[in-house]
Amino acid sequence: MTNPAPSHFDLSIAGAGVMGLACAYEASRHGRKVLVFDPGETAAQASSAAAGILVARDAQVFFSPFREFYVRSIRAYPEWLGRLTEAGGTAVPYHRGGDFMVFDLTDAASVKRLEEKKRQFEREKATAFTVSHELPPILRGHSRLEKVATLHFPDEAYVQNRDLLTALRKACEKAGVEFRRGATASPWTSNGEVTRIPFSDGEVTTRQVLIAAGAWSVNLLAAQGISAPMTPVKGQMIRIPRFHDGEAMIHFNDDMYLVPRGDSLIVGATSEPGVWQEGFDATGEAYLTERLGRLLPDAPRKQLENWTGIRPRTRDRLPWMGWVDAQRGWAICTGHYKSGISMAPLASECMHRLLVREKPAVDLAPFDPWRKQGLS
Ligand SMILES: Cc1cc2nc3c(=O)[nH]c(=O)nc-3n(C[C@H](O)[C@H](O)[C@H](O)COP(=O)(O)OP(=O)(O)OC[C@H]3O[C@@H](n4cnc5c(N)ncnc54)[C@H](O)[C@@H]3O)c2cc1C
Repeated sequence: MTNPAPSHFDLSIAGAGVMGLACAYEASRHGRKVLVFDPGETAAQASSAAAGILVARDAQVFFSPFREFYVRSIRAYPEWLGRLTEAGGTAVPYHRGGDFMVFDLTDAASVKRLEEKKRQFEREKATAFTVSHELPPILRGHSRLEKVATLHFPDEAYVQNRDLLTALRKACEKAGVEFRRGATASPWTSNGEVTRIPFSDGEVTTRQVLIAAGAWSVNLLAAQGISAPMTPVKGQMIRIPRFHDGEAMIHFNDDMYLVPRGDSLIVGATSEPGVWQEGFDATGEAYLTERLGRLLPDAPRKQLENWTGIRPRTRDRLPWMGWVDAQRGWAICTGHYKSGISMAPLASECMHRLLVREKPAVDLAPFDPWRKQGLS
């Protein structure tokens, strides 16, 4: 990639993951001149590692601002994807194939998780699901589990997140977003009107900056003298041959899932707090093969692919979406942990409104980065 000649932007975004790209697209479609910079390839980190699961579990009432934001964002997905497809010319596969949650009733930990889930569904007044003690049809002949509880949510959806990232990049390019490969070399300076961002091959000036660098946002903030308590949470996944032709997802004991992707199934995922080291390893192998073995002793286990990603988790597990410094025009959109793909449509819309000093569609106060346990 050849970097564009240094110039002046309305908004410069650090990070080309789903959050950076979604925010860039939203700002550019409203006429803003946008730069996205990233030391790596577009969307090579958590966003392409994800499974693309968008599960609302039919929530009708919300027990937290996070849950409300999450569900509203998922409901905005079809319209958002339609807009992206029109803008970039690339369709994004979105499947409303439903979800089977299968719990092994011979396992005490699994029974406990089932009870927790049921309490959540009661609290959220979810009704659009059925409960049975049968294996889902797509597992029959593959699983030998006999004592199960199966909750079927027929309306759940997933998106092919790697296609989503390609579509976002194309929509951004068509809208005039510029991309720069590289990390900033030293602290940014601001006179309140303009921020100067130094790169090794020149300086960019910008009216505003948005930090959307996932787990790596911490380093960018540290370079500006701001401490950000963020825990990286490694996730490991594999892809195996597809043994059924259904469109549904399966969640097993709420600690492993299988999601269709083309002629394969993706199987995930570990949750390893504090682990920065990337690469599929023995921990991922043991976690996934043990669970797969319990659910599907006879299914093909050949790994077609394996990979890892680092999820950004804040101390209170709520994202940081708001101003880092409103006067300088520095904002942040990160910390979406296990839900960044799901939250991108609404997060990008709200961040655009915040940046142009309009009222976001959802109150961002609970996600203020300077809240207790946040930035310091
Ligand atoms: C295994 C796994 C499964 C998941 N499954 C799901 C799921 O099913 N549904 C869901 O909603 N979410 C899921 N997630 C969570 C989701 O992937 C993340 O919340 C989301 O991708 C975070 O997006 P992001 O853009 O903030 O970060 P990232 O995608 O990590 O992007 C950050 C970008 O910042 C760049 N960067 C790093 N340093 C700098 C720097 N100094 N300057 C500029 N840029 C920099 C990186 O190169 C990268 O491109 C999953 C995550 C993992 C790991």
